[in-house]
Amino acid sequence: MQEALKVVLEIQEFDMKMIRLMRLKKERQKELEQISSLRKELHDQLDEKAKEITELDKTIQTFEQKIQEVTAKLKRIESQQSGVKKVDEFNALTLEMTAAEKEKVSLEQKVSDLVDKKVSEEEFLEKIKSSLKTSEESSLSLEREIQSSIQLINEEGASLKKQRDTLSTKADQDIMRIYERLLRNKKDRVIVPIENRTCSGCHIVLTAQHENLVRKGENLVFCEHCSRVHYWPESEVAEEGAATSTKRSRRRMANA
Ligand SMILES: [Zn+2]
Repeated sequence: MQEALKVVLEIQEFDMKMIRLMRLKKERQKELEQISSLRKELHDQLDEKAKEITELDKTIQTFEQKIQEVTAKLKRIESQQSGVKKVDEFNALTLEMTAAEKEKVSLEQKVSDLVDKKVSEEEFLEKIKSSLKTSEESSLSLEREIQSSIQLINEEGASLKKQRDTLSTKADQDIMRIYERLLRNKKDRVIVPIENRTCSGCHIVLTAQHENLVRKGENLVFCEHCSRVHYWPESEVAEEGAATSTKRSRRRMANA
């Protein structure tokens, strides 16, 4: 069993590398999305500002037209007044003229305010344009860099996958099925050593009986807490084995 697990352990290392690469790729893709959403935000701001300015222009034109109308009205009243003989008619026209003049002044004030507003909006528009330009220049090089790093990740991933697939043809297919199912669930190492009688996957302490089963290595032994497959770390077999046999002989002596 330990021998059969060895190949799968090698495959597992390839899979861990691939998982890490995929995570890295996702992070880089997210960076690309952030860059493009920032750019879109600036474009939207630009469009919004341009629309506001067009609206302002329209309003200014409407008011200017009104001013022209009032000016014409004033001229009309003026010429009318020069032909009037009666005092009360004359006075009535004077009142009308005063009202029209007032209206003209207020319209002119409105136009002047709107023009001021337009100027400041146009300044703001220029600011957005220039910051868009700067950010597009810098983001373009950043995007290229990210894209080339994604390209490298893809190449490395393809090469890892090729090696991994070759290896997997040599593996015990029953163990592979179990391994792949566990890996899909955990996206982490699923064949793990026992260390200090603890599952090195979930770090829960195991029973001595469980440890013995793993050490015998006759069947696949699953962690009862996290379902990972356990194996006995090779290098420790000799040392631990020696330690246990000493313990056993001590126990035997104590029992005697
Ligand atoms: Zn566990």
